[in-house]
Amino acid sequence: MYPRVIVNREKLFKNTQIIVDEAKRHQVDVFAVTKVFCGHPDIAQICLDAGVKGLADSRIGNLKKLFGLPCDKMLLRLPMLCEVEDVIRFSDISLNSELETIRALDMEASKQHKTHKIILMIDLGDLREGILPEDVHVVVPGILACKHIALAGVGVNLTCYGGVIPDEVNLGQLDALAKDIEATYGLPLTYVSGGNSSSIYLLQEDRLPRGIHQLRVGEAIVLGRETAFGHTIKGTYDDAFLLEAQVIEIKHKQSLPIGNIGMDAFGNKPIFEDRGMMRRAIVGIGRQDVDHLGLTPLNEGVEIIGASSDHMILNVTQADAGTTLGHIMTFKMDYSAMLKLFTSEYVNKVVMFDE
Ligand SMILES: *Cc1c(COP(=O)(O)O)cnc(C)c1O
Repeated sequence: MYPRVIVNREKLFKNTQIIVDEAKRHQVDVFAVTKVFCGHPDIAQICLDAGVKGLADSRIGNLKKLFGLPCDKMLLRLPMLCEVEDVIRFSDISLNSELETIRALDMEASKQHKTHKIILMIDLGDLREGILPEDVHVVVPGILACKHIALAGVGVNLTCYGGVIPDEVNLGQLDALAKDIEATYGLPLTYVSGGNSSSIYLLQEDRLPRGIHQLRVGEAIVLGRETAFGHTIKGTYDDAFLLEAQVIEIKHKQSLPIGNIGMDAFGNKPIFEDRGMMRRAIVGIGRQDVDHLGLTPLNEGVEIIGASSDHMILNVTQADAGTTLGHIMTFKMDYSAMLKLFTSEYVNKVVMFDE
């Protein structure tokens, strides 16, 4: 059934392996971030087969789907107070920045007879989550007083809100804070978690501070792209995930709408260029399912000219004459397109085994 997303198992495996191997050379463990594919267990399994240490997701609902897989599961988004019970049940490690939340996790862990590991997030300038570096010695003693919580490490997230690029300065600061905590409180930190796909370039350039020994990687695995500069990672594929959609109408039409132009379905006044007659195809997918600006057609001579909620319109004037009703069109996708495709319940997800 279409539309569907197909996954090339070998390409995804290769992408993961290249990143895991690069990390291994620097004694860094990789947690694969599964949120962009909504924690699909078959896809996560491919990452595990390729050597990632554990799985991480921002939503507890996705970690639930991964419950059966034999590895540590990490919750990336700070827990909501209303989900504490599930956080203890379905994650082994969570990222935290609020002592009140950590205390709630402690109480729940006690109820479930568990010890829950946390990574204390430090804000090193990106201004999303994390305590400020100067508050470390206020917060850490509070955490150590929680009997069912193990402070397993410290972490940072960069290049998400503020666009701050990880470097020797900010990650060096994380490294130093970790050493300070270890020395002050006499405990080893298992995880010094130095960020996401935007930290990969430091690995490649041998510039990652030595004390950083974990990364949480999503985009670089699924699209083969580091996110500090948007460079392709050598040897990886950007087409491990493909969208297939079916043609539901194909006709010759004008490129200019006929009549007075008001607003389109999204309240914008559209502007059109007169390109004469076009051979146009509509495929059965729309903005409810995908960010069409993030798609790239793989069929020769196909151009995306727009989309409404459930229809995507293609200019196929230059395409193969074999493009007819029922034809399957294939597209590569960027991160935001992938996120939406996996979130849409109207798109089928299929794991393919080979080419
Ligand atoms: C999403 C997320 C990641 C992964 O980011 P990528 O850029 O896809 O590698 C890592 N850490 C946190 C906290 C996240 O929310």
